[in-house]
Amino acid sequence: MKEAITIKDKQFDLFIEHEVIEHEIMRVAQQINTELAERNPIFLVVLNGAFMFAAELMKEVSIPCEITFVRLASYQGTTSTNKVKEVLGLNEDIEERLVVIVEDIVDSGTTMTTLLQELTVFKPAEVKIATLLFKPAALKKKIQLDYVALEIPNDFIVGYGLDYNGYGRNLKDIYKVK
Ligand code: 5GP
Ligand code: MG
Repeated sequence: MKEAITIKDKQFDLFIEHEVIEHEIMRVAQQINTELAERNPIFLVVLNGAFMFAAELMKEVSIPCEITFVRLASYQGTTSTNKVKEVLGLNEDIEERLVVIVEDIVDSGTTMTTLLQELTVFKPAEVKIATLLFKPAALKKKIQLDYVALEIPNDFIVGYGLDYNGYGRNLKDIYKVK
C-alpha cells in the first residue's frame, strides 16, 4: 500500500491499514452475532459510503437477517452541510422489525439523527446503529451508537468506501488529509 496519495487538490497520508479495519469489523460482527441472534434484524445499509463496510461486516454476520440499501446525502467537499435529503429506496416493510443502520462514519451526528427521525414513520420495533468510523470530538447531537468499529480524531479521511469529491472509495486502507 502507498504511504501517501493525492486526490485532486489534496494530499493524504496512510492512516489505518486494512488489516486493522477488518479486525475491528470482525469484532463488531461477533458482537452482533451474540447480541442479535434471536432478533431477526434487517440491516439498512446507507449508500454510497457504507458499501465496503457492509460487505465486510455481512460476510461475518452469521445470524438470520435481511439486508437492504438506502441512499441519502449530506456532504459536499470536506465540510458537513447540515442538509440531509430524504431516505430513498426503502422498499421493505420494517414495521415491528429490529433495524440496524449500517453507516460509514458518524461526524456531527446530523445525518444519523435525521435518519432515525425519518424512520419513525415506518414504525420499527427498534433502531440500532452500526458505524465503521466515529469522530467523538465532532459529535453535536445526543445519539447512541450501538456498534462502532473505529474511533478516529476529527480529521477528514478517505478510503474503505469514503470519498473525496467522488474519488477514493475503492482504497482498501484509510487515508487522512495532510
Ligand atoms: P454527519 O451528519 O455525522 O456530520 O456526517 C456524516 C456524513 O458525512 C457521513 O455519512 C459521510 O458521508 C460524511 N463524512 C463525515 N466525515 C467524513 C470524512 O472524514 N470523510 C468523508 N469522506 N466523509 C465524511
Ligand atoms: Mg454516509
